Amino acid sequence: MILRFADARARVLNTVPLAQPESEAVSLDQAVGRVLAAPVLADRDYPPFPRATRDGYAVRSSDVAETPAQLKLIGEVQAGSVFAGSVQEGECVSIMTGAPAPQGTNAVVMIEYTHPMEDGRVTVERTVSAWENIVPKGTEAVAGTVLLEPGRRIRYPEIALMASVGCTRVQVYRRPRVAIIATGDEVVEMDSPPRPYQIRNSNSYSLRTQVAAAGGEPWPLPIAPDESGRLRELIELGLTADLLLLSGGVSMGKFDLVEQVLRDLGAEIFFDGVLIQPGKPLLFGHAKGKYFFGLPGNPLSTMVCFELFARAALERLAGIAAGPLVFPRARLASAVKVKSGLTRFLPALVGGGYSEPTVELLNWKGSGDLAALVKANGFLVVPEDRDELKEGEWVGVLPREV
Ligand code: AMP
Ligand code: MG
Repeated sequence: MILRFADARARVLNTVPLAQPESEAVSLDQAVGRVLAAPVLADRDYPPFPRATRDGYAVRSSDVAETPAQLKLIGEVQAGSVFAGSVQEGECVSIMTGAPAPQGTNAVVMIEYTHPMEDGRVTVERTVSAWENIVPKGTEAVAGTVLLEPGRRIRYPEIALMASVGCTRVQVYRRPRVAIIATGDEVVEMDSPPRPYQIRNSNSYSLRTQVAAAGGEPWPLPIAPDESGRLRELIELGLTADLLLLSGGVSMGKFDLVEQVLRDLGAEIFFDGVLIQPGKPLLFGHAKGKYFFGLPGNPLSTMVCFELFARAALERLAGIAAGPLVFPRARLASAVKVKSGLTRFLPALVGGGYSEPTVELLNWKGSGDLAALVKANGFLVVPEDRDELKEGEWVGVLPREV
């Protein structure tokens, strides 16, 4: 069955159940990229005290309702300490960012709007409203609230949040194991010298990188020849992992045996083609209780099809509910003409900065042109119903993340 892009992606998302893998505890510095398995709670109120967000003077806002106002300076409080007394009408305390607002005060006047006077008083030139430049205690989170839900990928903001609540050990899901098999009689390992008509295996390496970045544990298997017996053996081994990725051998050629071998193993095939470029032949199925993808062998096709489809499956197996793909927009640098009917993801260079984002198609010699591909930082998306995108038009881009 050949599906359109959106239907194929929906098929993957609807087919692979959202897993709840077993969990393990890791130290916070080992947790980046992993998936949270248990909620993280606020251990106390945040902020734990009314925190000044500016250097200046802590005041009672009613005292500076009319300006200029003169207030009596009765002390100083810096971050990490506390002002012992309480501030009465007509008084103020010098305060630094991060310090607790003294009792009796409810606002901080920025130092820029004040003048110290000879007699120990301070002139305030601007009014402040109640709680201006103070974050009241518990307004970010009350003790016991859930700050992070399970199923969330841990990146640097989550690391910071967990550090702030003193979470030294983090409960994370076990990473799904992803078997990777490159196929093809012409494909050799990179450490053996290729004959003139052989090529080195690069797909296993791009896939390892992509799998690891997506939260899986790559398990590269030996290269499979275009011969059913050995291919079947390796596929059976690969199906002992949580997910199996194959590259190559899914086109219409006489020696493209992957689909047949999988069918012989009793596989259910959900689709065997998607109306996209690169990567029209693309297998997604289920065999011996495991999901698999047969990715087309061209290096670009393997990479793009992983990002568009296999990544979503892997994330679900890793316990993450994969969100929709996000396509930022940029202006097309020069017109693109194609045949309609396929959703295309073409290697492109996005640039132009904030006010004038532009995207430019790379000059590449086809799906195997890795030398050109490394210059791309994303993919220009050509919708399936378009045969021309005009210069200057706003178009969608799939940024390359890894
Ligand atoms: P296939 O999908 O098997 O027809 O392969 C399509 C193209 O990709 C052929 O030119 C292959 O030589 C190339 N190719 C297949 N597998 C790999 C691989 N593991 N690494 C690099 N190129 C590959
Ligand atoms: Mg092949």
